Amino acid sequence: MKALIVIDYTNDFVADDGNLTCGKPGQQIEARITELTKEFVEAGEYVVFAVDVHEKDDPYHPETALFPPHNIRGTEGRFQYGQLGIYYDQLNNKSNIQVDWVDKTRYSAFCGTDIELRLRARNITELHLVGVCTDICVLHTAIDAYNKGFTIVVHEDAVQSFSQQGHEWALNHFKTTLGAKVVTKQM
Ligand code: ZN
Repeated sequence: MKALIVIDYTNDFVADDGNLTCGKPGQQIEARITELTKEFVEAGEYVVFAVDVHEKDDPYHPETALFPPHNIRGTEGRFQYGQLGIYYDQLNNKSNIQVDWVDKTRYSAFCGTDIELRLRARNITELHLVGVCTDICVLHTAIDAYNKGFTIVVHEDAVQSFSQQGHEWALNHFKTTLGAKVVTKQM
């Protein structure tokens, strides 16, 4: 069984006025992320939105010293961006759809969350990763997935970063070190 993990595709990470935005590169994957999410949902596959959450001015959080405040609990910065946000809202109105949401406080979707329990309960062994940033939250999620024995598929046309250098480095790392399949849409 396979699942799609949609990582941090929120207003703060993607919109022009987001607090920690990838900007245009992040916006360029909007259509593909939305399309993949629809494909997984329509095929009856499990979809999880793994979404950063922070408390304002949290003195105990390591990211407070590293990044501007972002994805603060209760703000629109945490809403899914653009077309994906519209689709997410539509899904929420349908009770028969298997879409889940996991709040995460660290880069990896596995850190401090119950996502692994949800995946194991559904006999999922293959994780498809999309979202931002390729070299931060997608990377750390992929590393944990690798260590836990999941098969990893990264959709190259549905991940992005603030740093093109970091993006390229991480795509290579997925292939050469984590044994991931790095794929793009078959035209
Ligand atoms: Zn964060």
